[in-house]
Amino acid sequence: MGVPFLDLQSQYQSIREEIASTIHEVLESCAFAGGPYVERFEREFATYCGRQFAIGVGSGTDALWLAMTALGVGPEDEVITIPTTFFATAEAISLCGAKPVFVDIDPYTYTMQPELLEDAIGPRTKAIVPVHMFGQPTDMDPVLEIAARHGLKVIEDACQAHGAEYKGRRAGSFGDAGCFSFYPGKNLGAYGEAGAVVVDDDALAQILRTLRDHGQSRKHDHVRIGWNARMDGIQGAVLSVKLKYIESWTDARRRHAREYSRALAELEELVTPFEAPNVRHVYHIYAIRASNRDRLADSLRSDGVQCAIHYPTPIHLQPAYRCLGYVENSFPVAESCADEFLSLPMYPELVESQIEEVVSSLSRHRSAVAPPA
Ligand SMILES: *Cc1c(COP(=O)(O)O)cnc(C)c1O
Repeated sequence: MGVPFLDLQSQYQSIREEIASTIHEVLESCAFAGGPYVERFEREFATYCGRQFAIGVGSGTDALWLAMTALGVGPEDEVITIPTTFFATAEAISLCGAKPVFVDIDPYTYTMQPELLEDAIGPRTKAIVPVHMFGQPTDMDPVLEIAARHGLKVIEDACQAHGAEYKGRRAGSFGDAGCFSFYPGKNLGAYGEAGAVVVDDDALAQILRTLRDHGQSRKHDHVRIGWNARMDGIQGAVLSVKLKYIESWTDARRRHAREYSRALAELEELVTPFEAPNVRHVYHIYAIRASNRDRLADSLRSDGVQCAIHYPTPIHLQPAYRCLGYVENSFPVAESCADEFLSLPMYPELVESQIEEVVSSLSRHRSAVAPPA
């Protein structure tokens, strides 16, 4: 039968009439770039995150870059993040002219180890970017405490964590700004590219609104250098429809994760995800760990079970960041995870028989992961 890694089609089929009618409305109104559909979604998404304001932008990368720019990150600054993330986290730091500095991840949660922050902070450090990896929030209390003590900004990369919670509060609501991606494969995905920054500070929201629109405070009044990073009207309208379902989709992801973890508990060769006791993990990615991961992935693929790897190379070892001078073994947890992570099929529409198929394929090929004699 086979199990796809991601299935955007079945979710689309479940809401296609609502989507068609909302897109039709946008077409009739010709509100294509920004406009009322984006503004409506911004209000709804700010409320969803427990924030005062949301500013819709073109992508998650735009969200990170513009949030850091608005908070004053610039040339000569250093920004601390983790090496186990999507490339865009570090890229956005570089786009500000600043230098990414990494700290290793926690071997259980795969998020930033706050205990390592103090050693990474120097005279040029301007901000910390915790990444809520795979949908599990970072341990924010110590991050915020250390940031406050050193006068640093905190920009959350919540691009994988829509609706995730830490001590009962939503991801994206802790730092000076929270950044989201609505790339189609994300938990809340547009039908194209989109992103948002969520903030509480009115003045910061105003700066972000100008930055995404060529630095204009009003038409033809360019008060700063910005960019074209507006959200499309069609994406705003699509996201408003999908936001109504995100809670039930998240509950489904969490059920599937529990099911996988229960069934895989018997396979001692595999490490299943750990969920910290005070969080709501939203399982954007359900990643297991296995030695001989590549062999296991090939075996699963031969059964038609599609897996993915997030991410095979930690950022400090990417060719583009050779200039930072990091060598192998700089971040042992991040590096061993990169060799072992294997992301299993995960989306709300997964059905029981598909989960069973993935589990039985893993079970059949478990010998592939036994360390070589
Ligand atoms: C997806 C993602 C981004 C970038 O978002 P885009 O919308 O693709 O630009 C940034 N950080 C993380 C952790 C992501 O998963």
